[in-house]
Amino acid sequence: MADNKKMNLITPRDVDFAKWYTDVVKNAGLIDYGHVKGTIIFKPYGYAIWENIQKILDAEFKKLGVENVYFPLLIPKSLLLKEADHVEGFAPELATVTKVGDKTLEEELYIRPTSEVLIMTHFAKEVKSYRDLPLIYNQWTNVMRWEKTTRPFLRTSEFLWQEGHTIHSNPEEAKNLTLKMLEVYAQFAETALAIPVIRGQKTEHEKFAGAAETYTIESIMYDGQALQSGTSHYFGDNFTKAFDIKFQNNNQKEEYGYTTSWGVSTRLIGAIIMTHADDFGLVLPSAVSPVQVQIIKIKDTPEINTVVKDIQTNLNQYRLFVDETDKSFGYKISEAEIKGVPIRIEIGPRDLENGCVTISRRDLRNKVQVKLADIVDYVNTEIVAYDAALFATALKNSEAKTFQATTMSEYQTILAKGNGIVLVPFCGDVKCEADVKQKTATNSRCIKEQKKGKCFNCNKDSELMVYFGRAY
Ligand SMILES: [Zn+2]
Repeated sequence: MADNKKMNLITPRDVDFAKWYTDVVKNAGLIDYGHVKGTIIFKPYGYAIWENIQKILDAEFKKLGVENVYFPLLIPKSLLLKEADHVEGFAPELATVTKVGDKTLEEELYIRPTSEVLIMTHFAKEVKSYRDLPLIYNQWTNVMRWEKTTRPFLRTSEFLWQEGHTIHSNPEEAKNLTLKMLEVYAQFAETALAIPVIRGQKTEHEKFAGAAETYTIESIMYDGQALQSGTSHYFGDNFTKAFDIKFQNNNQKEEYGYTTSWGVSTRLIGAIIMTHADDFGLVLPSAVSPVQVQIIKIKDTPEINTVVKDIQTNLNQYRLFVDETDKSFGYKISEAEIKGVPIRIEIGPRDLENGCVTISRRDLRNKVQVKLADIVDYVNTEIVAYDAALFATALKNSEAKTFQATTMSEYQTILAKGNGIVLVPFCGDVKCEADVKQKTATNSRCIKEQKKGKCFNCNKDSELMVYFGRAY
């Protein structure tokens, strides 16, 4: 294969963002398409990113007392029908099992679109007294929502996620946990993924089916469209009433429990790509990059191999990869770029004569001669600077694509110029938001703050400042 051939297959980001995205996903070797439309195969490199996300988040969850569980894939139809809003929200996307062998099932079974009803009914059995509370569960699993239009990671019919489910003896504790989890997600996005986020509550129109309150982290992609990157829901006693989950409180009285759920999914991989990747391929934040430092040898000599061994020993706190394949030097470099490896170290005979190696940072695509004795310090410093630079670039883009408007015509003028999120005064009314959606094909992202004004759409008195915009 010719050198640098691969990167020519990537459509420039500013020419066609959607095509660029698909090109990056495919050329970086993250996925293949499944046989059923809307499904994807996670190839090793793509799955490794998800594993790193899992590792970091799971450790954060456990610090908050989260216990991992696993619930079945199938939900009996009668069970899902118990919470009316919930089933209405998911009905159009539900996949149903109706037959086993050639026998029609007496009761149809749904493939889980989410697991509230399964976990709630289990809670009903577990929770007898206030002493049994809280229960703080999470499962890492797959779910299925039959989507009409799909794109790898962003919207697939089957996707991987974690869903946390908790039950508490009082509303304050449940609400605190809802917000604490939102903060875990926000911190994770900003520190591990270098993606700036906006935290906020969803409007009535956009809240999760069956929730009392939904909180979200929203991030703004390179093209200015928003991406809902994680959500945390406070259910109050909506589900426990529907499922009759009562416990005896410390006054010996029966009371309904208070529940929450929260989740992030493989969508985050889409967010990483659309925030950081460029015309040469992926650019991965170091915390989740399957390879953090890649070593490429220009020749296979004993001197070079000795230096490689030393580097492996001295940088063993990093996920290090030495490309020992027969691929050409140029091909190896272009592959490391496409795969978004943060730091690349090239070692050749000429460099070694000067006691140096050549080090490149993926975001800068620079080449710096570094003395052998300075490699460790240099890599330690540059990897931190690299992550900080990714965050700074993303933040600059987010700020440049955040606008303000007070009327519908101002809002539409901004949208006509390009994508972005727009802060507007909004009445919060479900019908008014449905009207905005119908007029502009956009919806609210989240509430920024309480502030009196006139709704940008219906001109009635409003108390909220809300971000609206196009979203994935
Ligand atoms: Zn309004």
